[in-house]
This record gives sequence, C-alpha cells and structure tokens, in this order.
Amino acid sequence: MGDPKAFLNIPRQEAGYRPVNERIADYSQVEQTLNTNSRKLQASRCMDCGVPFCHWACPIGNKQPEWQDALYRGKWKEAYEVLSSTCDFPEFTGRICPALCEKSCVLKLSCDQPVTIRENEAAIVEAAFREGYIQVKTPRRNGKKVAVIGAGPAGLVVANQLNLKGYSVTLFDKDEAPGGLLRFGIPNFKLDKNVIDRRMKILAAEGIQFEMGVEIDVNHLPEGFDAYCICTGTPTARDLSIPGRELKGIHFALEMLAQQNRILAGQTFPKDKLVNAKGKKVLVIGGGDTGSDCIGTSVRQGAASVTQIEIMPKPPVGYNPATPWPQWPAVFKTTSSHEEGCTRRWCLASNQFLGKNGKVTGVEVEEVEWIPAADGGRPTMKPTGKKEVIEADMVLLAMGFLKPEQPKFAKNVFLAGDAETGASLVVRAMAGGRKAAAEIDAYLIQ
Ligand code: FAD
Repeated sequence: MGDPKAFLNIPRQEAGYRPVNERIADYSQVEQTLNTNSRKLQASRCMDCGVPFCHWACPIGNKQPEWQDALYRGKWKEAYEVLSSTCDFPEFTGRICPALCEKSCVLKLSCDQPVTIRENEAAIVEAAFREGYIQVKTPRRNGKKVAVIGAGPAGLVVANQLNLKGYSVTLFDKDEAPGGLLRFGIPNFKLDKNVIDRRMKILAAEGIQFEMGVEIDVNHLPEGFDAYCICTGTPTARDLSIPGRELKGIHFALEMLAQQNRILAGQTFPKDKLVNAKGKKVLVIGGGDTGSDCIGTSVRQGAASVTQIEIMPKPPVGYNPATPWPQWPAVFKTTSSHEEGCTRRWCLASNQFLGKNGKVTGVEVEEVEWIPAADGGRPTMKPTGKKEVIEADMVLLAMGFLKPEQPKFAKNVFLAGDAETGASLVVRAMAGGRKAAAEIDAYLIQ
C-alpha cells in the first residue's frame, strides 16, 4: 500500500462543482477535476484496511484499495486494469454513482472524511482513455448468438461481457440510441453524452450489433438466438391519482428530462409538445435522483421558481444515506441541483391539484407526521389536517417507477437490471448485468 499515515495529514479534497452562476447558464458537466498530483495525494489517503468495507459495499465488488494504491504510485495503467476487472464502464459510475463505497469507508465512519473513491475512479478511466490503455479487443467467436433487449447500463454490461467471451451479441433498444436512462434520463450536466458515445464506438468495433429503434415484444422474442437477456428497465413512472390530475401542466419527470437531452442532441419538437419550465413556477413532487434532475433542468430552462416537496421527514443531522429503509430511505440526497435555486419542503402529502381554464395553478398539500413503529419497522403516516396551497403552473411527478411484472419466460431467457430488481442505481444494474452474463455463459457452455 501507499502511505499508511497519509490520511492523518492530508484532508479529503473534492474537485467541487463549477460556480453556480456559471453552470446554470449551460448544460455542461458541473463537476470539475483535480490536477494529477492532488489526485495522487487523495489516493494516498486510502488506508488499505484489513477488512475493506468499501469493497463489500460496492455492488460490483470494486477492489478500491488496490487501485488507490496503484494511483498513489502513479501506475495509472495498473490502476485501470484492476478497476476494469470488476467495472465495465467506470466512466459512468465515476461520474454518477452515489458511491456506496465512500459511505462505508473507514475514514467516513471514523471522521467523516472518506477517500474520494468515486472521483479517483473517474480520474483513472479518463487517464486510460487519454493514454490509449483502452484498446479495441477482437474476441474469437464461439458460434453462439445472444439477444439483449434494452441498451441501458444493465444491457450494455451483459452485451460487453458476453461479446468478450466470444458470443455474437445483438443489442436491441426501442430508443434511437443506446444508453437507456444514462442517455434519456440523467441530464448532461451530470453525464455528458459524449462519454456514452465514446464507449459505444468501442463496443461496436468489438463486434456488438446495435439494433436501435426496435421495440421488442418480450412475449414474442426474435428467433435465431441461443439465449436472451431482458434488460428493459422500469418504463412506468409512479402516478399521483388525486383530483385534478387531468389538468394541463402536470408531467412525468422523464417527459421533461428525456426531451431536454434529445434537444441537446440536436432534435427539435413542435412548440405545443415542449415541456419547458421557462418563466414558470415549478413544483417537483418527489425527493430522489429524478426530482433533483428536474430541479437542475428547470433552473437551466429559466424557471421563475422551483419548489420540491417530499412526503418523508427531513433526515436528522448525521444521517447516512447508505442506511436503508425503514430508518431513512435514500431519497434525501442533496445534489448539485439543490444549491442552484430550490426551496425544499418535507412531510407534505399532495391532496389535490388545483386549476383554472384546464391548466394547473397549484397543489393543495397537507402536513403529515410519521409515527415510529414499536418494533422498529416501517413508520406510519398520519395526516395532521394542516393544509395549504403551493402555487405552481408546472408540476413534475418524480415519485419513482413501478416494478414491472415479468411474464414467465422460457429457460433460455434471463433478466437483469431494473427490469429484475425494480428501479435502483446504475451500479446495481451493472452488477445485475455481470451476474446475468455469467448465468447465460454457464447455461450455453453446457
Ligand atoms: P434502463 O437504463 O432503464 O434501460 C432500459 C432500456 O431498455 C432503455 O434504453 C429502454 O429504451 C429499453 N427498452 C425498454 N423496453 C424495451 C422493449 N420492449 N424493446 C426494446 N428496448 C426496450 N442511478 C445512479 O446510480 N445515479 C444517478 O445519478 C441516477 N440518476 C437518475 C436520474 C433519473 C432521472 C432516473 C430516472 C434514474 C436515475 N438513476 C441513477 C437510476 C439509473 O438510471 C437506473 O437504475 C439504471 O439506468 C437502470 O439501468 P437498466 O439498464 O436496468 O435500465
């Protein structure tokens, strides 16, 4: 390992975001980078713990202490080799992973100064691209064919893993370009789409066939493949069926987010189909990643104001986002978007949408209390009767996605990602992709 006592002298240093007034004028990535020397110093803070909780907490089992050490010693190629042995696309997770590893770092638990694992990961993969360590591989074909349905992070990992093992992989997606929510959900200011395109070029050169703009009926899978992997995500957003839902100006979050990403990619939309917050009082209902992305996008579009409401209570000081429900669900993340201009409110349930001339003008909300369960289980919500109206001429519903019911599949059909687990995280979808690829390989190898 590098320097066992470095953490005593070197504080955690994040690269930070671009200044608010600069970044809200564009959709470019908000996160900055450190210079090489500072990055190596940050890597030196890793203590190479005997029991690496960071590794345990990582759904794909990244070997963080090993690549921190290589990075500290300036062995960038070695660092990339270890990193890419567990992570297919560190350029995605290095940018947008909530970094469960950092929440479990001993330096987080002991002094709230975890190693900057995620940023170090991004630095390693960017160096690997820059220095040409990432080369196109040409696998020897084994004569078997696999169809992967859905080109989000789960499908991309399945395709990558099986392609490298010699399977001929065809990747189908109903969208016009691969990436799933990486491309048509997560805003450019968190993940620039060039980062996806750069990787897709490599996957295509390595032999993966991309069939984009093709919607597959999973009950009638295309013929001619030895196995299939369904990675179709969670396409149905949770709705809010309260009076007034039919009013104009109420949208699912992805209507706005996907459209904005498409506009940035050069597409145009008729004026009456635009979901744009310019000059509007925006109310975002829901406090997770999707809600945060709606805030950042609304601010950039020029919203007059943005308010975000959440039905759950504000988390206590010292709250650890890694703590699972029932204590505190991971919907309270503060992202770069919150400091860009947003009022956050907690413990508010929505009773009805109010409107005039068919258009939404506000939402009647009611304060709720959460009564802890005696057995430490899920708390119970109790409305208090304290009601008020929050004015809004645009409402964005960001309350999560429904877990899809999957049909009973034949033996050669596998599932991965959000389609299997319900809505989750990129890193979990990627972990599911690796697991499914290993299962498909084991099935086809017999
Ligand atoms: P998806 O990414 O949903 O991909 C599924 C793909 O399947 C899509 O491309 C879709 O077009 C395709 N498809 C569906 N049905 C068919 C069909 N019948 N035929 C052909 N193709 C089909 N996670 C993080 O870790 N960090 C974040 O910052 C983060 N931010 C998020 C922001 C938003 C707005 C949202 C909505 C989610 C966010 N997430 C984040 C969650 C993360 O994006 C998902 O967990 C992850 O993308 C799931 O990957 P997946 O491959 O399972 O599904």
